[in-house]
Amino acid sequence: MAAWARVAAVGAAAVRRCGGVQYGSGPAPAVYDVVVAGGGMVGAAAACALGHDVRLGRKRILLLEAGPKRAAGRPPAHFGNRVSAISPASADFLASFGAWEHICATRCKAFRRMQVWDGCSEALITFDRDELDAMGYIVENDVIMAALARRLEAVADRVDVQYGSRAAELSWAAADPWLGVTLADGRRLRARLLVGADGPDSQVRRAAGIRTVGWPYDQEAVVATLHLSEATDNNVAWQRFLPTGPIALLPLSDTVSSLVWSTSPERAARLVGMEEEAFLDAVNSAFWSDAEHMEAAAAAGRALRRILGVLGPAGPPARQLPPSVARVAPGSRARFPLALGHAADYVRPRLALVGDAAHRVHPLAGQGVNMGFGDAASLVRRLGGAAFDGRDLGSPSLLAGYETERQRRNVCLLAATDLLKRLYSSAAAPAVLLRTLGLQAANALGPVKEQIVAFASR
Ligand SMILES: Cc1cc2nc3c(=O)[nH]c(=O)nc-3n(C[C@H](O)[C@H](O)[C@H](O)COP(=O)(O)OP(=O)(O)OC[C@H]3O[C@@H](n4cnc5c(N)ncnc54)[C@H](O)[C@@H]3O)c2cc1C
Repeated sequence: MAAWARVAAVGAAAVRRCGGVQYGSGPAPAVYDVVVAGGGMVGAAAACALGHDVRLGRKRILLLEAGPKRAAGRPPAHFGNRVSAISPASADFLASFGAWEHICATRCKAFRRMQVWDGCSEALITFDRDELDAMGYIVENDVIMAALARRLEAVADRVDVQYGSRAAELSWAAADPWLGVTLADGRRLRARLLVGADGPDSQVRRAAGIRTVGWPYDQEAVVATLHLSEATDNNVAWQRFLPTGPIALLPLSDTVSSLVWSTSPERAARLVGMEEEAFLDAVNSAFWSDAEHMEAAAAAGRALRRILGVLGPAGPPARQLPPSVARVAPGSRARFPLALGHAADYVRPRLALVGDAAHRVHPLAGQGVNMGFGDAASLVRRLGGAAFDGRDLGSPSLLAGYETERQRRNVCLLAATDLLKRLYSSAAAPAVLLRTLGLQAANALGPVKEQIVAFASR
């Protein structure tokens, strides 16, 4: 069934299911054009983009955030332990409503090279950009949130922000053209469109009866803020695939990097709890040790490299050694469970899911929030166009177009990330050989690498 027809059909079913809406005898619920439920990075960015789009200037927009208000604009004094690799496309989106300017004025580190290599062989792939072009940016999540809070304040007359407010129940009714939203404290609203941006455990998604496919990974991510042994340009993002999971070191400044180490839950607990010296040894050894090397795969990789060297013009850039780490910022170690999740549908009548509410991905590709910003950008672009044309902001064709565009991209990223996670979780000889040859070949083929970078940058 075509996506638009499915939206319409589900709408009719929902209307039948809910019958007439009962608002009781209190004051009539306020009507908003767009209600965004969830003020994390994705929901807050969506609300900012809506508030700054002149085509939506006459629309009433509400952002509901379950948590308390965070301090706006004040740059955090220390590096936060939660960071995101932000793609150039996400930076453009954040720049479109002035948040990127605040981020750059606070703290953000461009990286111009990525080196990804296998812990079981010498296979590696590098991605490079020249001095002018960044491959991406490492930004603390707190810095992104502070910038979004400032941009929300700038449109306070157009975007109403309510903290400590949680969307709880939804109702579609034949007698009411709008979507009814009941908050956890009993207040009721009506929305021409509800944007569910309430994270991986989305209440909005559940209330709408949208199924998800997914599974927990047998891994947790250990994060920490690390001080390097010595100052460097520190403009490389490093990631090594160990059989127990990938470990990444992401630059934050010339002397500080952020660690994201995915490993078994038992090991993650040990890493977070161990003495600092032992932790630093474990991190340095995870990047430097050859203990897991499989000689047969390494030899096959070397042979392939020689053949490609003869066939190709110039070989790929040489392997660089990652910096060693000397200190961990006190209190910065933490761990997070990892899982894959994907909503079977991103839309229902007058409802669209964005960000982790729609998809949850392993952090190895650094794509989760970039996918969410892509969702928000796509949805706001369509809403701006509809407002300009005088069309309904919750029309089935608008929502179906959004869903098709975003699922097409997000499903590819989810599948590729899951495949990489599985392929690199194995230390079995055939898997090591396969990925060694694949990585070496991809590294030697410039156009393939360009395609990978172009896809990940969008
Ligand atoms: C270790 C780790 C490293 C990562 N690194 C990267 C990276 O380098 N690059 C990248 O792109 N991504 C990365 N990610 C993924 C990224 O962090 C997530 O994709 C992103 O935080 C999702 O943002 P969100 O706003 O969709 O959801 P959330 O951050 O979960 O925000 C949801 C918000 O909704 C609020 N809320 C919840 N329920 C309700 C409700 N019922 N009503 C109203 N509000 C509600 C919550 O309080 C919260 O503020 C990483 C993830 C992890 C775990």
